[in-house]
Amino acid sequence: MPTETDQQAAAATDVLSDGRWDRVGVLLPLALFQPYDYLVPADLNLASGDFVTVPLGRRQVIGVVWGAALGDVDPAKLKPVAARLGMPPLPAISCDFIDWVAQYCMAPVGAVLRMAMSVPDALLPERALKAWALGDPAAAKATPKRQRVLDVLRDQPPLPPTELARAAGVSVGVIAEMGRLGLLRAETLALPRPFGMPDAETLGPTLSSAQGDAASTLAELQPGVTLIDGVTGSGKTEVYFEAIAATLRAGRQALVLVPEIALTPQWLTRFERRFGALPAQWHSELTGLARRLTWRGVLDGSAKVVVGARSALFLPYRDLGLVIVDEEHESAFKQEEGVIYQARDMAVVRGHLAKIPVVLASATPSLETLVNVETGRYRALQLPDRHGGATLPSIHLIDLRRDKPARQSWIAPSLRAELEQTLAAGEQALLFLNRRGYAPLTLCRTCGHRLQCPRCTAWLVEHRFHQKLMCHHCGFEAPMPPQCPACQSEASFAACGPGVERLAEEAAALFPEARRLVLTSDTVTGPAKAEALMKMVAEREVDLVIGTQIIAKGHNFPHLTLVGVIDADLGLHGGDLRAAERTYQLMSQVAGRAGRGEKPGRVYLQTYDPDRAVMRALKSGARDAFMAAEAEDRRDAGMPPFGRLAALILSGRDEAAVAQKARDLARAAPHREGVTVLGPAPAPMALLRGRHRIRFLLKTRRDIAPQAVLRAWLKGQKFPGDLRLQIDIDPYSFM
Ligand code: ADP
Ligand code: ZN
Ligand code: ZN
Repeated sequence: MPTETDQQAAAATDVLSDGRWDRVGVLLPLALFQPYDYLVPADLNLASGDFVTVPLGRRQVIGVVWGAALGDVDPAKLKPVAARLGMPPLPAISCDFIDWVAQYCMAPVGAVLRMAMSVPDALLPERALKAWALGDPAAAKATPKRQRVLDVLRDQPPLPPTELARAAGVSVGVIAEMGRLGLLRAETLALPRPFGMPDAETLGPTLSSAQGDAASTLAELQPGVTLIDGVTGSGKTEVYFEAIAATLRAGRQALVLVPEIALTPQWLTRFERRFGALPAQWHSELTGLARRLTWRGVLDGSAKVVVGARSALFLPYRDLGLVIVDEEHESAFKQEEGVIYQARDMAVVRGHLAKIPVVLASATPSLETLVNVETGRYRALQLPDRHGGATLPSIHLIDLRRDKPARQSWIAPSLRAELEQTLAAGEQALLFLNRRGYAPLTLCRTCGHRLQCPRCTAWLVEHRFHQKLMCHHCGFEAPMPPQCPACQSEASFAACGPGVERLAEEAAALFPEARRLVLTSDTVTGPAKAEALMKMVAEREVDLVIGTQIIAKGHNFPHLTLVGVIDADLGLHGGDLRAAERTYQLMSQVAGRAGRGEKPGRVYLQTYDPDRAVMRALKSGARDAFMAAEAEDRRDAGMPPFGRLAALILSGRDEAAVAQKARDLARAAPHREGVTVLGPAPAPMALLRGRHRIRFLLKTRRDIAPQAVLRAWLKGQKFPGDLRLQIDIDPYSFM
């Protein structure tokens, strides 16, 4: 390794007398911790952020100029940059943000760049869509077939070859021949733009006075973080729309991060109503062309508003002026694979780097955010009432120890009575169980054998809808075996516990007349399906909805008056720091689906532990007191946000090698004040996808950066073979 002064000396020689770099660092979108040096050919003038192609081994790779050369390689061995691509450079703030995220998350900076360049094809010139128009009629003889083609085009704009052939009922060969002869003329079609031009001056709804106050504060667009803290149905969306309008008026771009873009057709409709056009969307289901055009639209600034899942944060905004994180408490903002990051937290960083406002919205803000409000780091705007005078639903607890469901059923008698009443009154009801499939566990009645995933520490879940056993952790699937694999008994499997499919079966037996709809990720397969199904509910084509958390978010069901939660304790098991907080959030969100129309809603939570603090708080609606008590517990334990955590997960296929490496790491573990290392311990998910897993948890005082401690700890550690160490800063998953 060169020393720092070597590097400075080397860097000094990078700049020629005319100010041009003769060597540059180029960051490639690969799992690399630093840029590579390349020579700059004499006819190229490169600057940071320029997209370039460079040779890498025998390949040509697209990368980004990442400042001056590092100077750690003999210039005689360097290869030249092949070309600069003709698109705007990656803006400096994007480069800074990528560096920042890589440092903070301890991820390879090239892997973070890859998230920003998620569409490599977007960097290449778009293949134009070719179409045929009428050419010179005198160029050749018009046979009957050719005449049909000419007739089609006489009253039509130019058509792509296959469409033209279909319309005229001729082969594509005929079209090509006519092109060669000059009877047809080739034209290039403008590419369809996958997003509209939102207009701030389109008239939105009249805001209530609470909304108006909040909106005018946001419209000042002051840098810093603002929380919109408003109950479900209070109209937070309409409020932050005004911040978007102000950003559009300032000629800048706005980003809205949402947990599940696929599930928000209602959101898009409202956006279109307010701004007269659709925003650019960014999510995994975009087609290739839409992705490329959106990416470029973000880079050239023509995409003014982007709504998307967490990865939209890394798009190359020309001039981002506002970031909104809707449902900021959602754990879906945590990316758990590849580069592990918390998109809400990184959104705050992005806003800070650009000195622009960041807006967090939630009915049940995260504890971290509430503490930041309390300490004055964040501003808060309150919307305490539902819009249009709708009242919040009343919440009741059902004590399952007293109010027992019948054997092999899960709906308590009192909830059943409520359902009967609601359905008889012609109102809608929702049964919520956050567990996919038919039963979480299948066992053999003869020998007790449990069907387990061969690759994970997890039971296989029976899905009758797909007629399969599935592992919810690795995606393993198998048909139901005809006999017990352990004792060979036939027909001796018993389903244990309820999944949403089994609940649907019970509901069907109880309420055969009710029009039922099961909403889970197995039935809601994409945005279009989601829209159609949610519309059925909203338009009252359904009496009883049975679903998982897929229904908890963002939907307005005006006719829904009753919500029954089958297992409110479900999220409280396991050693998760945020279990009670998350239960509060999820239950409030599900409850918030009820009573959005004229009739008030009722919510029943089935629990075995009605005296638990979170259940009492849900019943009384004492959110702030509950969160304050949670915060006290965390403060006492030195847990986030009062201390810092980093999780280390060591994994590999060879159990002995993993155990040996864990011992090595334990020996090297830091000993100093304000730093605690927990573990090594087998992860709760001790086997995942065939890999054995051992966890460490590093806990530091708030003023000690865990990254620095980790760098010192891991210095010189090697991970041979398939051993892997995953670092998770600010972990949310403790599996
Ligand atoms: P939240 O996001 O706070 O749960 P929403 O923004 O979804 O609430 O608003 C709840 C419902 O009230 C939506 O159907 C929305 O269209 C409606 N709404 C909110 N504000 C207004 C307003 N000012 N005028 C008319 N309808 C409104
Ligand atoms: Zn058996
Ligand atoms: Zn598995």
